[in-house]
Amino acid sequence: EPAQIPVALHGIRRDDLSPAARRVCAGLQEAGFKAYVVGGAVRDLIAGIPPKDYDVATDATPEQVRAQFRRSRIIGRRFKIVHVMVGNETIEVSTFRALHDEDTVTDEHGRVLNDNVYGTQEEDATRRDFTVNALYYDPATEVVVDYHHGVADLKQKTLRMIGDPVQRYREDPVRMLRAVRLAAKLGLIIDPAARKPIREMSSLLENVPPARLFDEMLKLLTSGYAVVCLKRLHEEGLHKGLLPLLDVILDQPMGEKFVWLSLENTDQRVRDGKPISPGFLFATLLWHEVLANWNARRDAGEHTTPALFAAMTEVLDQQAEKLAITRRISADITEIWALQPRFEKRAGKMPYRLLEQPRYRAGYDFLRLRAESGEIEMALPDWWDAFAHANPDAREGMLVADK
Ligand code: ATP
Ligand code: MG
Repeated sequence: EPAQIPVALHGIRRDDLSPAARRVCAGLQEAGFKAYVVGGAVRDLIAGIPPKDYDVATDATPEQVRAQFRRSRIIGRRFKIVHVMVGNETIEVSTFRALHDEDTVTDEHGRVLNDNVYGTQEEDATRRDFTVNALYYDPATEVVVDYHHGVADLKQKTLRMIGDPVQRYREDPVRMLRAVRLAAKLGLIIDPAARKPIREMSSLLENVPPARLFDEMLKLLTSGYAVVCLKRLHEEGLHKGLLPLLDVILDQPMGEKFVWLSLENTDQRVRDGKPISPGFLFATLLWHEVLANWNARRDAGEHTTPALFAAMTEVLDQQAEKLAITRRISADITEIWALQPRFEKRAGKMPYRLLEQPRYRAGYDFLRLRAESGEIEMALPDWWDAFAHANPDAREGMLVADK
């Protein structure tokens, strides 16, 4: 039987939850189903971190959940979950599921390919990755249901795998990245049994589909702990050629300062609760690749602008083989890069046009970061800052002065 942990030991009051999470659990329970807040939100609340979002686990089927809430929809083809909208929040509701060995389909490396089937709450707990991620909070009783000593592990600052870490990494190599990210975010020590195999098993990440890897890298880079995570990944032996972007980030003799500055900036923004743009972030991570490619093309006699566009395309295509950067994000990246040479033109009508660009602000922030890292003179972003804030007469004067 699972431990039923009272509020005195875990500290979560029902009022600590978002109204939507409470509403969804209450709605399901009134209809006679079990319903718990589960996973990251429970873990974060016990650790004193505000949850990013809420997941609810239930014994109701997706169709039964859908029937309870007017503003809800079933998503997912192979494994259905339900998104329930309450106010401006979306709660992800999933039915308890199990991973039965006998139905499991894997690739030749042991990675699990099929989604699992409905199961009991206990089975649902056991298929989760870490003990701290397998906690179920019942808002009605304020009890945490804990099958794997997750509360104790969290209090002891330990990230422990449920089951045999080697097997669990084989089933899903992304768990190695999750281990590093969650340990950094929560200040946990990865249990040695879960930490040791990472070095030998990291090459399994090569078989993970690029879209999944992109999701996970994005989570890592926007966790507010990107700098710590990336240093840890390197220490844990995720060596060259394994993680797209990691090489780019870690061995940039020229761009190293730029990349770390950008990551530190992003971490700070996340921790201050400010919005961040994935496009901007990826634009910074790949910029020095573009720069090297662009310079080589110019040295070979190509014209400046076509050379830049060719360089951008080549760098993005190269990343796309391993990392499925979404269309929207790659459009953002391209826009930010394409603006850069336009900041060098400070005469005639060009600067006025650039100021009116919808992406001016992102382009300018990028320019400033380039200057802070020493790639270009600080005088350039300073000029744009002054120009943007000057009155129309003064602007004319600045243009002439620049010639
Ligand atoms: P955060 O939302 O802070 O990034 P999280 O733990 O909530 O962290 P999600 O990706 O939102 O991460 O996953 C929700 C829950 O689903 C996890 O807490 C865990 O219980 C389970 N889970 C997620 N990914 C895996 C995985 N690869 N293997 C097993 N269980 C997983
Ligand atoms: Mg989550």
